[in-house]
Amino acid sequence: MTFEDFNLSPAILKAVAACGYTTPTPIQQQSIPLVMTGTDLIATAQTGTGKTAAFVLPALQRLTAPSEIPGKGPRILVLTPTRELAAQVMDAARSYGRGSRLRCGSILGGMPYREQLRLLSAPVDIIVATPGRLLDHLERGSIRLNRLEMLVLDEADRMLDMGFSEDMEKIVSAAPKERQTLMFTATMGKTVLKLAEKMLNNPQRIELAVRTSSHELIEQRLHVADSLSHKKELLRHLINDSSLTRAIIFSATKRDADELARELSREGHKAAPLHGDMNQFARNKTIERMRKGAIRLLIATDVAARGLDVNGISHVINFDLPRFAEDYVHRIGRTGRAGASGIAISFVSSSELSYLERIERFIGKKLPEQNIEGLAPLSVLRRVLGGGAAGKRKSPAGGNYGKPGAKGKSSAGQGKSWGTPRKANSGRPNKEQAHQPVVEYRSRRAERQAVCTP
Ligand code: AMP
Repeated sequence: MTFEDFNLSPAILKAVAACGYTTPTPIQQQSIPLVMTGTDLIATAQTGTGKTAAFVLPALQRLTAPSEIPGKGPRILVLTPTRELAAQVMDAARSYGRGSRLRCGSILGGMPYREQLRLLSAPVDIIVATPGRLLDHLERGSIRLNRLEMLVLDEADRMLDMGFSEDMEKIVSAAPKERQTLMFTATMGKTVLKLAEKMLNNPQRIELAVRTSSHELIEQRLHVADSLSHKKELLRHLINDSSLTRAIIFSATKRDADELARELSREGHKAAPLHGDMNQFARNKTIERMRKGAIRLLIATDVAARGLDVNGISHVINFDLPRFAEDYVHRIGRTGRAGASGIAISFVSSSELSYLERIERFIGKKLPEQNIEGLAPLSVLRRVLGGGAAGKRKSPAGGNYGKPGAKGKSSAGQGKSWGTPRKANSGRPNKEQAHQPVVEYRSRRAERQAVCTP
């Protein structure tokens, strides 16, 4: 199958060819013909599968016919959970729409209103928006959706996760009933299906295998870590490997991301943080520097890195495991993109065992455990698919390596031993063995505000 098979306009085909695409990806092969018929669609596909073109190309084709409804509101509206994803969708729309004269722009929280009001002051074809700010414009009356022909809910599951469900409902209720609605989601849980029931009309369903199949080119490994300082030693060892060209290191909290980035920079690495407390300008600049190779190690939180599309990421390192299994799949999908291979390495401490089990259940396999000479863990994690508990091996000094520690402390905040060599088998568990990542999900609402409020 080629793009010529889709009945797209010559201008769109030319733009697609200019992007270097020759063959449609599976999600494009399945979605584009359906979307072109005007039907509603719910598709399970992750970022990295080419899903953006799967909705942008038919949207562009739709725009080749003029609107019959007078007004200024957008004809196509794409809602995304984060500003980063919105920026990527906008970039894709601009690339694929290169030859088609379009007026498009984004409506994002954290960005100046002035430009957005200017965008909305004349008829607009495509708007990519985060729900909070779009609703804000709707409530102020600066945007109307009476001309809307196609509504795309991109990463719908994540929008729900981030507490956008009410905002989405209000937006949808302001949209015409006669519209095409497309929903893309990485997971198809009950809440997503409920949302689809409310917002979609007799949708066609496409399920692309979301679990491991799209990650066949990614080698996944696991390292058991005794403590925070052990995690740092493992990390230092891995990042000194020359095969690591560019890596995203995921930490549980924004504070940890900052601190790790600072420590790594001090060590002479080209490292930078990426998280929701940074303003949009700083986030864009960091991503651009990563793209250009000025940053080799990006220390990121989940929300900020979602949908991040940077090619040539050789490694993803889960310094802290994600609490949600789906996030694991998203994280590792930052590498192994566009046919390249990649390596995903996860560290797990005893306090994260339940997260590991959840991930392994979700992906349907055990992550193979590896040891690095001189950095082997002193603790043993006993895990089983579908349940299990941390192994509680007595240390030679009688300590208990599986013992959980103080709650609520930031992980990187506890560590001071970035440069300290590890004493192999020193036998004495210390405070750091109680490393308990404070997981970012707790602050998703707050993060949402950071991402999407003015
Ligand atoms: P997406 O899932 O939309 O974020 O796309 C992931 C990456 O795949 C992006 O870098 C796209 O530019 C690229 N891509 C999308 N469609 C194709 C295609 N048909 N052939 C090659 N690369 C593609």
